[in-house]
Amino acid sequence: MFDIDKLIRENIRRLQPYRSARDEFKGEAQVWLDANENPFESGLNRYPDPMQLALKEKISTIKKVRPQNIFLGNGSDEAIDLLLRAFCVPGRDRIMLFPPTYGMYTVSAAINDVAVVETPLDDDFQIPVEKVVPRLSDERLKMIFICSPNNPTGNLIPEAQIRALAQNFRGLVVVDEAYIDFARSDGMLPRLTEIPNMVVLQTFSKAWGMAGIRLGMAFAGEAVITVLNKIKPPYNVNGLTQKAALAKLDRLGGKAEEIHRLIRERDGLQRELQKLPVVIRVFPSDANFLLVRFTDAGGIYRQLAQKGVVVRDRSKVVPGCLRISVGTKKENQRLLEELKALT
Ligand SMILES: *Cc1c(COP(=O)(O)O)cnc(C)c1O
Repeated sequence: MFDIDKLIRENIRRLQPYRSARDEFKGEAQVWLDANENPFESGLNRYPDPMQLALKEKISTIKKVRPQNIFLGNGSDEAIDLLLRAFCVPGRDRIMLFPPTYGMYTVSAAINDVAVVETPLDDDFQIPVEKVVPRLSDERLKMIFICSPNNPTGNLIPEAQIRALAQNFRGLVVVDEAYIDFARSDGMLPRLTEIPNMVVLQTFSKAWGMAGIRLGMAFAGEAVITVLNKIKPPYNVNGLTQKAALAKLDRLGGKAEEIHRLIRERDGLQRELQKLPVVIRVFPSDANFLLVRFTDAGGIYRQLAQKGVVVRDRSKVVPGCLRISVGTKKENQRLLEELKALT
């Protein structure tokens, strides 16, 4: 049912990609005179590997996905933008979202002049699959974006729902797993080879603790990865980022320990918040944040901000709700103290 040649934009299919100096020659050289670089060594005077092979090898081992099935970008945001550019004809094609969800999908679609069709999540923040399936036959619908665990609601979308949608769609199912390391699930990556029209997005920005380096990962079948590589800027992942990520991947123990602590903090914060009279409900979370319904979200947001404690006001997308990232023990205690002082 999934045929990438029918899905890809005609101009992208015809495109002859730019070939950088480092694409033309691969191998060991003694003298590099091919890229007009400054020859004086500074550790950064050379262009970085355009295909980030060393980094992909390491990620491949950790994620158990072949390097040919990995795309690396300047944040997940770059992968989202490139997917839209590769598969959606501006002014014609559409994507489907399940709000409330991550805001970048809408912004990136708008930048690319791609229309957005919305099917709201139900009261338990799940996808109403039976309502969605009949809408998937739309000729111009090219992609659906599923965020799991979802931002800002914090819940996982069950594998069975994702499978059902993928099976009934000839377009791409993009599953954004930015928060999967905090979840009680391995997510969809182990199913990558079984679902040919699925793209899984992950990132170094959350559990890896490296939001500052801007590194996002997209995992998909080789045909989709080839298209993304074809249209990306040649050196989209810079040399500093590649070095920092390689170093981080050699220190895996630190990450597991941090995730463990954050999950413990999340569960403690959930219990404490629930006791406060200003809190109506703390929604269950499989991420490193909590969605909390307050008696007066706007007022509490402003009062917290005045005390120097900044949370995210999501009351426009989920009525009465603030989204609170899980911080260190000290930061979480400070938040609770400020909230208690309000009541
Ligand atoms: C934070 C977040 C990302 C991360 O984006 P980067 O560009 O990789 O920093 C992606 N998706 C969701 C849903 C997020 O909340």
